[in-house]
Parts: sequence; C-alpha cells; structure tokens
Amino acid sequence: MTLFRVPDRTRLPARRPRGAAARASAVLATAVVSTAALLLPGCAAPGPAAGGASAAEVAHGAPGSGSSPAPVASAPDESAPGLDLARHSTSDPDSPWVVVNKRLPLDPAYEPDLVTVRGYLVRRDAAPDLAALLAAADADGVHLTLRSAYRGYAKQAAVYDGWVAQLGAAGADEVSARPGHSEHQTGLAVDVGGSSDPGCDFEQCFAGTPEGRWVARHAADHGFVVRYTGPTTAVTGYAPEPWHLRWVGTGLAAHLRATGVATLEEAFGLPGGDYAR
Ligand SMILES: [Zn+2]
Repeated sequence: MTLFRVPDRTRLPARRPRGAAARASAVLATAVVSTAALLLPGCAAPGPAAGGASAAEVAHGAPGSGSSPAPVASAPDESAPGLDLARHSTSDPDSPWVVVNKRLPLDPAYEPDLVTVRGYLVRRDAAPDLAALLAAADADGVHLTLRSAYRGYAKQAAVYDGWVAQLGAAGADEVSARPGHSEHQTGLAVDVGGSSDPGCDFEQCFAGTPEGRWVARHAADHGFVVRYTGPTTAVTGYAPEPWHLRWVGTGLAAHLRATGVATLEEAFGLPGGDYAR
C-alpha cells in the first residue's frame, strides 16, 4: 500500500493569480499573520524577518569564496561516506541532524537560536553555510532569493487552525502543516526562489529554472539537501518541493550524496510518511 501522497493541491495558494500573491506578500509585510503565507505543508511564509534585509546579515560571503571549484569549506572533520551516523542526535531539536516529519514532531516550546541571513531568521548553526551557498550562487551568476526560513510553532498553529475552521481537518492537512511538524520550526530549513522566473517560486517549475538546477547540483556542497523530491514522497510525507532546502552540515550532505541515500528517514532508519491518524 502506498503510504500516502500529498495532493498537488498543497500548492493551492501559489496557484492563485499572481496579483493576489503579490498582495498577500504586501499584507505579510505588515506583520499580519496571513493565512495565505503559511499554507505549504513544509513551506511558505514569504517575507523577510522583521528587521530588514541588510541590518544583521550574516557573513554575506567573501568575494570569490563561494565559487563552485572551492572544496567543502566547513566541517572538515566529517567526510563521506564513512560518516558516523550516531555522531549527532536525530531527536534532540538542537541537533544539526534532528529529523522532523509527519511522524516525528517537534516540542511546541522549542525555539532555536536564531540569526538573520539576508533578512530571514535561520538557526545560528546553519547561517554560515547558507550565506556561503547564496554567495556561491551569486558568483556563478545565479541569483537565488530567500522566500521563507524560520517559522515558529505559534504562528504555524494559528494558520493551521484557521484552515481547519475553513476546510475541516482533512482539508487543512492538504494545504497546511500541523504545528510541530514543519521543518521550518527548526530554523534549519529555507525556501529559495529565483530571479529568472519568480512565477516559479513555490511551484514545481522551479526545478527547471537556472536557480533550481543550481540548487539541485550545489546545495550539498554547502551542507544542504533538497529535502522533498518526487521519488521520496511516501518516505518524507511531503510532495516534491525543489525549493525547500534543509541544512544538515557538509559532512552529512556529502555522505548522502556519496551513498545515494535520498532521505534523512532512510539514512537514520526513522519513520516517515503521513500522519499517524
Ligand atoms: Zn519549506
């Protein structure tokens, strides 16, 4: 039996007319908790963190430091494929390898140690590699944009509850993650977009853009994995999201690439798939 398949309608709001999406972003900028912002199960919530893009930007990347020929720049003590997979916890929310999915929720009270990268809140651990990834893309002439990063439990809960009121629980699960089940609460996940065709942001067509292709090829160089892919939906519990990147560190990212293991669930032997109802 196929465990489950997230319906394509998970992208429901993004398929609204572009004008509506733009208005939704504008509303977000006023700090209203907008339902339109948070509906992708793993994703959404466009709009930078309060404070603006330039205020506290982390390590924007030294010129020339991010180009693709550069070897892995951090975590030199970890190497693929002989990585000790017990090195970090998969259940401690502060671990770089914490696994969060529809079977493995986070503590509602968990709040990561956050810093700002290009106006978005991300966990301090992940910030240098994220800055390096963005700088490397820039150096390659590929201009990635950040569209979403950390999202707290309370915000997700408010949005999810709004959808339950509107659609019922089953309908809400098709368009919004239950609170505690989004990787974005870890501060280790980001959603990236592209400048070449912003209309493909949060859409499957992102995979075919220069930015989407660059990410698929280079994310692991900087410690990120494309977390939700087409062949792994039944394992991850999420439909493909070629824009959703999860930081795991360069060691594990290299290990996964070298071994061909496609998911964190498989790498660590953890449960995944749909919610236990
Ligand atoms: Zn996401």
